[in-house]
Amino acid sequence: MSGLAAGIRLAHYNKRVCILERHNTIGGLNSFYRQGGRHFDVGLHALTNYAPKGTKRGPFSRIMKMLRFTFEDFALIPQIGSEVAFPGVTLHFTNDFDLFESEVALAFPGQVDRLQAMVSQLVDYDQLGLGATGGSAREFVASYITDPLLIEMIFCPLLYYGGARERDMEFGQFCIMFRSIFLEGFSRPFAGVRLILKQLLRKFKALGGELRMRAGVEEIVARDGKVGKLLLSDGSEIETKFVLSSAGWYETMRLCSDIHHQPSEREYGRLGFVETISVLDKEPKQLGHGRTIVFFNDSQRFEYSRPSDPVDLRSGVICSPNNFDYDEPLGEGMIRITALANYDAWATLSEEEYRREKQLWYDRTLESAVRFIPDFRDSVVDSDMFTPLTVHRFTGKAKGAIYGAPEKRYTGQTHLENLFVCGTDQGMVGIIGAIVSGITITSKYLLKED
Ligand SMILES: Cc1cc2nc3c(=O)[nH]c(=O)nc-3n(C[C@H](O)[C@H](O)[C@H](O)COP(=O)(O)OP(=O)(O)OC[C@H]3O[C@@H](n4cnc5c(N)ncnc54)[C@H](O)[C@@H]3O)c2cc1C
Repeated sequence: MSGLAAGIRLAHYNKRVCILERHNTIGGLNSFYRQGGRHFDVGLHALTNYAPKGTKRGPFSRIMKMLRFTFEDFALIPQIGSEVAFPGVTLHFTNDFDLFESEVALAFPGQVDRLQAMVSQLVDYDQLGLGATGGSAREFVASYITDPLLIEMIFCPLLYYGGARERDMEFGQFCIMFRSIFLEGFSRPFAGVRLILKQLLRKFKALGGELRMRAGVEEIVARDGKVGKLLLSDGSEIETKFVLSSAGWYETMRLCSDIHHQPSEREYGRLGFVETISVLDKEPKQLGHGRTIVFFNDSQRFEYSRPSDPVDLRSGVICSPNNFDYDEPLGEGMIRITALANYDAWATLSEEEYRREKQLWYDRTLESAVRFIPDFRDSVVDSDMFTPLTVHRFTGKAKGAIYGAPEKRYTGQTHLENLFVCGTDQGMVGIIGAIVSGITITSKYLLKED
């Protein structure tokens, strides 16, 4: 997503630009595939940062303007309503923040003024700049909100949808995530991620951009502090003025011919996830489940860290792509569940054990989720499941860490003068974040020079 966004910007300014993709399909972490006659999205739960037509501010409007799309090109449908569910307390929220405030007032009397005071201190996207970090978000939140349970309930969705660090996030990231989830909210195109990718690719090609599939970069050859050339998996070489990599920080450094050190844990992520996809013989609403996304945790404290088991069953995210405010039904019912997972626990299994464990943890993940939504298991007609190994295999992300390295490279610069990073490890996560990152880094460095 970040690469396509960067490509569109460059092509728009008549730069000769080529996107190199290792795989035979586009989309990276948020692609799509066909299996058993059905279309599946790899990842899409929802787009964050919902902006209704006519909105002038915020990341979504900025993307539309910078990439010259219209609101209709993506036809986003807002969520119906989501919730954060902890034992004994559920906080509902929609794309209208007033509902969340009133839910907090009901469940945590005495905290709502504190919540409002905290929200008034969030830094706006436009003021974050490229270098914003600003310390621990937990310390910031605790300086306003005094109920520990409410703190956990606020962090649960933010960490699940963008936490690259265990337990906490940087203040700047917190501002981005809080705004994108609670203040702006969720939406989805009716046709899923395919529509987003199709629109990005169409624009890129229409502007003269070149896309080379099955063209993996094997080595970035450094010469005199600059990228000399790229060696590709098909044996060919490319000489270029600039390289912008969306492969990840550690993954990019590993490709550089002049980097020989062993990476530290700070350079790649520790947080892996599993995702189960269950296709149902009816819409989830017919089973009594009408929520768009449910973030759940089964105790008062939310532990966002790498589990020792293959999957952490204590918490998770349940998403139904059917439960957006469409004019017509989506067709088949679907429920997706995300949970924290341990890459190493999956990586040590033999092929046969891996298959067996996948079935076992699929069943357990569903069993865990139906504590928070109506039991849909008798309606499942088809299923699939990703582990951190799947993410690693299809995107090259070390340890299958979707949100990348805990330490972000906000400037996008590297030790090589003409090599930059964009996307997840530049500091912007999710689809909207990745697209913003591609635009920002391109404008800052690659469009400055002739
Ligand atoms: C299961 C799952 C669910 C998700 N759900 C959501 C969601 O609901 N909403 C949301 O906003 N975000 C979601 N995300 C996150 C979102 O998909 C990512 O944050 C975003 O797509 C990252 O984009 P990127 O451009 O930074 O990187 P990537 O998508 O990782 O793109 C990098 C690309 O580089 C290619 N590549 C890597 N190495 C090389 C090489 N050496 N040579 C050539 N090509 C190479 C990869 O194949 C890949 O295509 C989800 C992710 C997953 C995995």
